[in-house]
This record gives sequence, structure tokens and C-alpha cells, in this order.
Amino acid sequence: MRVNGWVRINQKHKVIVISMIKTTDFLPQITGSFAQPAAENPTVAMVEAAYQHHGLHFRYLNCEVSPKNLEAAVKGAKAMGWTGFNCSIPHKVSIIKYLDGLGESAQLIGAVNTVVRKNDQWIGENTDGQGFVQALKKVISPKGKNITLFGAGGAARAVAVELALAGVSSIIIVNRSEDRAEVLVDLLNKKTETTAVYHSWGTNYFIKATTDIVINATSIGLYPNIEEELNIDFKSIKSDMVVADGVHNPPETHFIRAAKVMGCKTVSGLEMLVNQGVIGIKYWTGINVNPIIMHDILRKVLAMDTEN
Ligand code: NDP
Repeated sequence: MRVNGWVRINQKHKVIVISMIKTTDFLPQITGSFAQPAAENPTVAMVEAAYQHHGLHFRYLNCEVSPKNLEAAVKGAKAMGWTGFNCSIPHKVSIIKYLDGLGESAQLIGAVNTVVRKNDQWIGENTDGQGFVQALKKVISPKGKNITLFGAGGAARAVAVELALAGVSSIIIVNRSEDRAEVLVDLLNKKTETTAVYHSWGTNYFIKATTDIVINATSIGLYPNIEEELNIDFKSIKSDMVVADGVHNPPETHFIRAAKVMGCKTVSGLEMLVNQGVIGIKYWTGINVNPIIMHDILRKVLAMDTEN
């Protein structure tokens, strides 16, 4: 990591703050994101705010990259000496063939959202599930808990694998398409200690009373379809359940609002997004950045997004 300027320790947040940059180095370390679509992804605002707050000589470029241009984009990043990058929809699986190796959970999940240059090797990591579990742990310990998880796509896979690695007892996967769900159930049962079962998603799914933690890892409720609701019996949400939503835009989804009305503790997709970002920045810079800065900027930009 390269930092220039004056450094002090902020005791409250236990982070290094560089209060002033004095540099004659005009070459920042470059990070960024490859996705399509890219314009609606707020990660650039969050990461650049953290870089600025900590005086890190880094930049983050949000790049629209089509599947046919992914290989060229990766070659370009290597040629320009990037430090690493995120990849999002639709590249989380297809990126793997352009990398030199995978971290442990990325290997299990079978998808990558963060690429890190380690010496001359480009290693794929997956911070989505780790970010989620970190956010969840502020509210409840996942160890030994029973989970009902809606979804079986990339986010659901990452969340389910990390929950299994964190020691949850059981996971019911509820998903519209059975094939995708069965692949995830199979992975969890074969590769982790957690017991997983599939449940089909009919009308008004009734959440089992033995559930401790309910998670929406589908894209239902994502902006601009913010009024779209999970097809569940909302009366089956009990006040002692913890309810989490992976959707970060809007920051408070209809699902989170409904859970709050029932008296549940909740975890928002915004917490997951911030936490996975903190982990990604640590990979690239070695610094534990202040999540509050990232939270504040996201609330600002996403509130504007929803209003417009
Ligand atoms: P995928 O496309 O891989 O998966 C989408 C999932 O949603 C599938 O399980 C799909 O079911 C389900 N789904 C979509 N529409 C419906 C519907 N109308 N009815 C029932 N099920 C539906 O997307 P991802 O897993 O990558 O992303 C899912 C969500 O997670 C998105 O909202 C994304 O923004 C969010 N996310 C948040 C992150 C964060 O940091 N907060 C990080 C990563 C993702 P089926 O299999 O039947 O198609």
C-alpha cells in the first residue's frame, strides 16, 4: 500500500486516518468494476468516498463491460497494472476462466465478485456472503440457527455457503425454479456440515415457525420494482425471527418494513453492500475503512435515486 501525508489513529473507529495528502505522485492505484448494466451500481460512490476519507491514493472506475468484451477488459486491467476489480452481473461466473486461482469461499460458491492482484497472480474472491454474515452477526449469531432463504441465484449461493461455513444448523431453500435450487441444496449437503432442503414456492409460502432467520436473496423489490412483494404469508413472520434482505436499493424494502411492523430485528441489503465493500477494499489496500462513511454516501445517493 502506498500512502503519502500525515497519519493519525482515530480511537473511536480504530482506523488510520490520513488527514492531509502531500504528494508528488500523480499515479493512483486503480481499482474498479466490470458489469452490464453498470450505471445503476452505486459501489463507485461508496468506494471512492472511503478512499477519499482515508486519503488513499486509489481510484475506482465503474466500467460497462459486455460479456464479449470481458476477456479484453481483464487483459486491459492487467496491462494497466490495476490493483484489482469487482465484477457483477453477468460476469461473476464467466470471469473465473481469466483468473489464476480462487479463494476458499469463491471456490465453494463457484462465483467471484472481487479480483485481487497478488504479486503477478489474479485471484478471485467472493465477499458477498462474507459481507452478509458480518452484517447479520451484529444482530444474531448464526451458529446453530435454522434459516429460510428465498432465492438460489448468485447472491443466494454466496449467502448460503457463508452461513454454512459460519455453522448454521439447517437451510430451507425456497426458489421459483427447482433446478437451480437443487444445485445449491446439493452443494450445501455435500460440501458443508449444514442440512439443506428445497421447498417449492407456491402461493403465499408459509414460513416455518422453527425458523430463526429469514432472508430474501431474490431480486424481488429491487428498484425500480420497489412495490413488488415476496409471495409469502406475511402472518407467518414471527417477532422472534430475524429478517434480512439482500436488496440494497431501496435501502428499506417492503419486506424489511413488514418485518419491522411484526416487531422483528432486521438486516438490510445496504449493510451487506457496505460490509462486502469494506472486505474488498481491505483486499486491495490493506486498510480497514470506516463503514459509516460508506453508509452515509449510499443513503444519500440511493435516496436521490428513489426520488427521481
Ligand atoms: P440472480 O439473477 O443470480 O438470481 C435472482 C434470484 O431471484 C433467483 O433465485 C430468481 O429465481 C429469483 N427471482 C427473480 N425474480 C423473481 C420473481 N419474480 N419471483 C420469484 N423469484 C424471483 O441475481 P443475484 O443472485 O446476483 O442477485 C439477487 C439480488 O441480490 C439482487 O437484488 C441483487 O441486487 C442483490 N445483491 C445484493 C448484494 C449486496 O451487497 N447487498 C450483493 C449481490 C446481490 P429463479 O432461479 O427462479 O429465476
